[in-house]
Amino acid sequence: MDDLLIGIDLGGTNLRVGAVTPQGEVLDIISEPFDAARGPQVGIDKICGIITALRDRTMGRGLRGIGIGATGPVVRERGVIQNPYTLPTWEDVDIVSPVCNRFSVPVNLENDADAAALGEYWMGAGRGLRRLAAVTVGTGIGTALILDGKVYRGAEGWHPEGGHMVIDPSGPACYCGSHGCWESLAAGPAIALQAQAVAAQEGGGMLRLTDGKLNLIDARILVKAARQGDPPARRLVEKISTYLGLGLVNICMLYFPDGIVLSGGVMRSYEVFAPGIQQVLAHHDAVVPMDKVKIVKTQIEGQSGVIGAARSVLNLIEEQAL
Ligand SMILES: [Zn+2]
Repeated sequence: MDDLLIGIDLGGTNLRVGAVTPQGEVLDIISEPFDAARGPQVGIDKICGIITALRDRTMGRGLRGIGIGATGPVVRERGVIQNPYTLPTWEDVDIVSPVCNRFSVPVNLENDADAAALGEYWMGAGRGLRRLAAVTVGTGIGTALILDGKVYRGAEGWHPEGGHMVIDPSGPACYCGSHGCWESLAAGPAIALQAQAVAAQEGGGMLRLTDGKLNLIDARILVKAARQGDPPARRLVEKISTYLGLGLVNICMLYFPDGIVLSGGVMRSYEVFAPGIQQVLAHHDAVVPMDKVKIVKTQIEGQSGVIGAARSVLNLIEEQAL
C-alpha cells in the first residue's frame, strides 16, 4: 500500500526524519546531527539515504509523499532553501527537485515553524483549534498561524517572522538589523547573555552551578538556579517572562486566536516562566478577554516538526486533487 508519509525536520544542527501514517501516527523516526557546512549535495544525499532506510524498515510500505520543514527563510513555491544564516552554504538550494527525482512522489517544502504548527494542529495540543498560533522558543523564536487547518501565508507566500517583532526599540541589536526583537530578548541565546551579565554583576546561584564558569551559564542554568530560589535568577526569570508575555500579548492583540501552543527548548521549562507570562496577559485584557486564549505547552515536543511536515505534503496532495 502506497500510504507512507515522510516528514523531515531540518534544523541548524539536527536532522529528524520520520515515517508517518496518513492518520498521523509516527511509525519510526531517525534523528541525526546535521552539519550544513559540508554543503547541500552532502546534506541532500544524507536526507535521501535516511528516507530509503526508513522505507526499508517499514516493511516495504510504498511512499505517498515527502514533506520537508526547514529552518527558514525558504521560498516554498520554488522548493528552495535560502538560509545561509543557520545552514551555512545553503543559499538558493533547490531541495525539492532532487528529492522528487529520487523518489518520484510529491514533495513539499515548508518553513519549519509552519510545519511544527501544522503538527500541533493535527496531532498535538492545538488539535482542532480553528485559529491556532504556534510559538517555538529555542535558538530563535519561530511563529506560525494555522487557520482552519491551513497554514496562513503572507504575500507571495512569504512566512511572517513574529520572532522579529520589536518588543523594546532600545533593546539589544539583532542580526536582522533591528533592535530589541522578540528573539533578541527572549530566545535561548539572548537569555544566556542576560544570565551571564546578571551573574557577572551579582554572583549567586548560577555561578555556583557552573563552578564559577561564566561562559557555561545558559537558559537551563538560569532555570535551575531560579527553581532553587536564587534571587538574581528569579528576578531575571521575571524579566524574561515579561518579554515572553509581551510577544504573546501582541499575537493576541493582532489575531486573538483560540489557542497558542508553546514549544522549543526554552519552553520545556514553561512552568518557571508561566506565572510571569500569565501576569502580563492579565494586565492586557481590558479590550480583549485574554483568558479566552488557551496557552498550552506542546505534548509532542521533538516530533511536531516531523508530524507537521508529513501533514503538509498530505495537504499539498489534497489541494492538487481539487
Ligand atoms: Zn531581529
